[in-house]
Amino acid sequence: MNYLKWVEIEESAPDWNLRQLRACSEDEQNFPVCAVVKANAYGHGVREIISLLPSAAWFAVNSLDEGLELRHCGIERPVLILGYVLLDRLAEAIEADLRLTVYNTETLEKLKEAASPKKPARIHIKIETGTNRQGILPENLPEFLSCAALIPGIKIEGLSTHFANIEDTLNHEYAETQLHRFEEVLRLIGDAGVHPEVIHTACTAAAILFPETHFNMLRTGIGLYGLWPSRETYLSAQTAGRPVPDLKPVLSWKTKIAQIKIIPSGSFVGYGCTFRTNRKTRLGVLPVGYADGYDRGCGNSAHVLIRGKRAPLLGRVCMNLLMVDLTDIPQSRLEDEVVLLGKDGDEIISAEMMAEWAGTINYEIVTRISPFMPRVIKRGKESVH
Ligand SMILES: *Cc1c(COP(=O)(O)O)cnc(C)c1O
Repeated sequence: MNYLKWVEIEESAPDWNLRQLRACSEDEQNFPVCAVVKANAYGHGVREIISLLPSAAWFAVNSLDEGLELRHCGIERPVLILGYVLLDRLAEAIEADLRLTVYNTETLEKLKEAASPKKPARIHIKIETGTNRQGILPENLPEFLSCAALIPGIKIEGLSTHFANIEDTLNHEYAETQLHRFEEVLRLIGDAGVHPEVIHTACTAAAILFPETHFNMLRTGIGLYGLWPSRETYLSAQTAGRPVPDLKPVLSWKTKIAQIKIIPSGSFVGYGCTFRTNRKTRLGVLPVGYADGYDRGCGNSAHVLIRGKRAPLLGRVCMNLLMVDLTDIPQSRLEDEVVLLGKDGDEIISAEMMAEWAGTINYEIVTRISPFMPRVIKRGKESVH
């Protein structure tokens, strides 16, 4: 591999994970899954990931530009934009047949000009049920619906909401309250004669733990990448008496040793002199830093893998460099492969471990891996072209 630093993607893992999540639903063969590929497919590389998800019925992204990129890559399946689209760019979304998440009457007003029965705006109304993020409050819905009904170019295709508190707890009462609010809204809009085809509320944790949230499509992100939303979700799944998906991590992140040198006992390493050697130390310099997405919080606490062994980080993480202790891996050589995230022999550095070192969550660890890093698709040990 002629790269200094790169990300490897296991070819079969994304679709495997998708099918594992789908198996959590009752109609497991055909149940539609919307694959959430926002944020460069959670840092994995969106172009690579979409090519490895043949079983995804839909894709979801955050922004208009991400949606346009999917179209540019030749994706013809439905694509839902989850985030906000500027009023002046709504016409571009309609032109590319991207589905819009809508919760503002201002957006409806603008769609009046931009959409027509021949080129409809397919909208998914997002309901505020208690996350207090994006969404329309149930009490404002009647007005919103009557406004939408007057616009011939608008097709209400979907209805959605998002849960606030499934991942972080073993107590799921809050999620149940949100679900009840959502079900009330479903009745209300049915009474108003509106029947969206696609009802979707289930992120990965909901998909695994709450079949009641599945409606007629899952909307999952983190699980596709082989990662559990949290330890609480994993524990809840073990005791829920439901199928537990076998998720396979998709990504490994690697680099090569850029310098090796012996420094005396008592030497300081890195900015701020936060580490001092207490023995003669074989120091390895790695060409990766926080600008590449390697969390600065990992300084003085993380490990990397070299020749199947753990090497501890010494000192702070720099912008494009970090230092490790190779004293106990004397056989290591310049340009040896280094695993920052992933497996090497019997050792593993998981996104969860790294998250713990950095004081964050696995989602943030993977999504912040720099998009400039080359992504290489692997089939077992072989590169796939
Ligand atoms: C990111 C996101 C998801 C996916 O959540 P996961 O926990 O990664 O499965 C689903 N819905 C919305 C609205 C999101 O923003």
